[in-house]
Amino acid sequence: MIDPQEVIRLKTWLTVWPWPNKHGKKAEVIGKASRELMRLAHIAMKFLEHAAVKADMVIGNGLEPRFERFPRPKIVLGSASLLQALHEIAHARFGSSEAVAAAWSCKMMEELFPEIKVKGKWFGHQLMNEDEFIAF
Ligand SMILES: [Zn+2]
Repeated sequence: MIDPQEVIRLKTWLTVWPWPNKHGKKAEVIGKASRELMRLAHIAMKFLEHAAVKADMVIGNGLEPRFERFPRPKIVLGSASLLQALHEIAHARFGSSEAVAAAWSCKMMEELFPEIKVKGKWFGHQLMNEDEFIAF
């Protein structure tokens, strides 16, 4: 379920900052976005491009994180949570199943950071108690 090549790519992008901004699209910013959130949006967009997933990125401090399929696919992020971003990417790739999105995103986190146990709890679609992954 987890592509080792994708793990390597993500690890690289997470450790290299800044990088040349070579992906075609920019994130749409609503209100303000912290530097960490901007960085996460770049990483997420790079990953979406690499994985050939079509989805726009909308970011803004405090926005409710979600994936919207209509009228055009878009990922909305409101904080610099890598795990939540992975969760939304999973929805964009695999569909609306919460079980699949949570499983893929948590597994990817554990592949990226084997020393960290994923402790966040999902309330519906949103991740809570995720302190260790905010502002990575
Ligand atoms: Zn979800």
